[in-house]
Amino acid sequence: MRRLLVIVLILMALVGVGVWWATKDAPAPAPVAPTAQGPEVTTIGKSVEGRSIEAYTFGQSGKHLLFVGGIHGGYEWNSVLLAYELIDYLKANPAVAEGVTVTIIPSANPDGVFKVVGKEGRFSAADASTDADTLAAGRFNANEVDINRNFACKWQPTSTWRSKQVSPGTQAFSEPEARAIRDFVSKSSPNAVVFWHSQANAVYASECEAGVLPQTRAVMETYASAAGYPAILSFDAYPITGDAEGWLASIGIPAITVELADHTSVEWEKNLAGTKALFALYSK
Ligand SMILES: [Zn+2]
Repeated sequence: MRRLLVIVLILMALVGVGVWWATKDAPAPAPVAPTAQGPEVTTIGKSVEGRSIEAYTFGQSGKHLLFVGGIHGGYEWNSVLLAYELIDYLKANPAVAEGVTVTIIPSANPDGVFKVVGKEGRFSAADASTDADTLAAGRFNANEVDINRNFACKWQPTSTWRSKQVSPGTQAFSEPEARAIRDFVSKSSPNAVVFWHSQANAVYASECEAGVLPQTRAVMETYASAAGYPAILSFDAYPITGDAEGWLASIGIPAITVELADHTSVEWEKNLAGTKALFALYSK
């Protein structure tokens, strides 16, 4: 009996060794394929109150397109939601941006947004204040500066928004939010830049001292016709100094302003069409 038991144990050991031998070089299970290539998220600067200004970059090759929401903060919160919606869309549909690199800075004035929505990071339309004074204050950063008057194109120590005086900062790029965009642009040299605002319902070209760049005109016409907004070559309703788009023009980078039609809707289908048209223009 005991001999039989020893033989059974030896056989079991041999079978075990055989199984180990047969499987030891088998490939490891394949990793689960990623469902979508997530964006690279970087903090490009901090606001006056220390809130992060983030950039979401999809892709690493081809021409580089930059989209910026919320430079006028809280009362243009719909431009921030539009930017977040495009981020979500590209996460789910990365093939749409094949052939280009896309960076989205969803909230360029997070202190201004905070004044109006009262929370950090992502928010929804329901969070936004409807109080007129709160909304108006949300245009500015925590130093009460209009960031879109703080760039180095025709910067002046006094500036206007419609018939009102607004603070342009103590000098060009005095504000950390403007410096964050400047430094990101210097580092990454985008081929074109789109700023989302509200609520003039049009797409505007940009210029500084040397007129509208030919490529700016192409970018404006491409976005406007795909999205169904009027295209406006030169803004002359009132003088604007120190705007970001003008600064980009001054360094040879085409930039446009896309103004949503009101302060609450993101006009998603229109802006997705405009955005895709720019992807197509730059992936050729
Ligand atoms: Zn604006």
